[in-house]
Amino acid sequence: MTRVAFLGLGAIGAPMASHLSGPPFELTVWNRTRERAKGFVSNHAAHIAATPMSAGNDVEFAITCLPSSREVEEVLFSDEGLAQSLAPGATLIDCTSGDPASSRRIAERLAQQGVDFLDAPVSGGVAGASAGTLTVMCGGNETVFERCRPVLEAFGKKIVRCGDVGAGHAVKAVSNALLAVHVWSLGEALASLAKIGVDTSVALDVISASAGRSNASQNLFPERAMTRAFPRTFRLALLDKDIDIAARIARDAGVPIPLIELTAKLIRGAHGELGEEADHVEAVKVIEERAGVQIS
Ligand code: NDP
Repeated sequence: MTRVAFLGLGAIGAPMASHLSGPPFELTVWNRTRERAKGFVSNHAAHIAATPMSAGNDVEFAITCLPSSREVEEVLFSDEGLAQSLAPGATLIDCTSGDPASSRRIAERLAQQGVDFLDAPVSGGVAGASAGTLTVMCGGNETVFERCRPVLEAFGKKIVRCGDVGAGHAVKAVSNALLAVHVWSLGEALASLAKIGVDTSVALDVISASAGRSNASQNLFPERAMTRAFPRTFRLALLDKDIDIAARIARDAGVPIPLIELTAKLIRGAHGELGEEADHVEAVKVIEERAGVQIS
């Protein structure tokens, strides 16, 4: 049996961890709010750890899936942190959508105690996590990546090494910057069409079969915005964090990115208006409010 710890049973963490409960894995979970961990172990074969430190006892792999790299550093290096119990030869797989600079810092600190690090953020949403079909984009050395592959295959379908430590986090941030651009621009486009009296269901159907299509037009808007269901599966706050990481990567590299900077500002404003719990697709409500029109 491969002993694995999973820390962070949030919207996407819990369905990911569910694929590691049972042979060939022996799973231990930890969550800041203990009730959530209790709920998980009542439905899945897993041990519950009282602290991040006890979660790391005797494991080959520890997986973190937390809001940002800041929480990962807290969970690793604070009192009773995970790093205290990880033994030489263990690997930390960070499935958080984190930032590359923090990942490199974390990897260096863990290397001092003989622990390897792989950044392995995911894409595919809660539905992909439940189905075990996530895309996993990894940063780390080739040997570490190959060692982690059987664990990643439990919840991932397309598993790709993008480069050294931080590369997975960089690709994820950029991908979500594109998601933000797509959601925001489609919201503006449909608001304009609604205002001039075009049936937006018809327009969305046509756009989705035309050059302007995106995952936002083909899936997100039909399922979430047009129905007004707006299920809360991926918080706008997290998208705000991701596009901010993408903007910082470009700034540090000296690449001008006016479109991404502007979208980051709009997303930050929407996050401020709609609060911490709003889903990312709910950003369209801010566009509707300003336009004085509903897109559906
Ligand atoms: P949630 O907000 O649903 O869950 C966050 C998790 O982190 C919870 O387990 C929460 O614990 C824990 N947490 C928050 N703050 C702290 C802290 N200070 N110390 C310890 N634990 C903490 O987030 P998601 O599960 O949606 O996202 C997790 C990561 O995955 C993020 O980086 C996100 O960007 C990424 N992601 C999410 C997707 C999605 O569709 N949801 C898709 C792809 C990537 P508690 O229960 O106590 O609040």
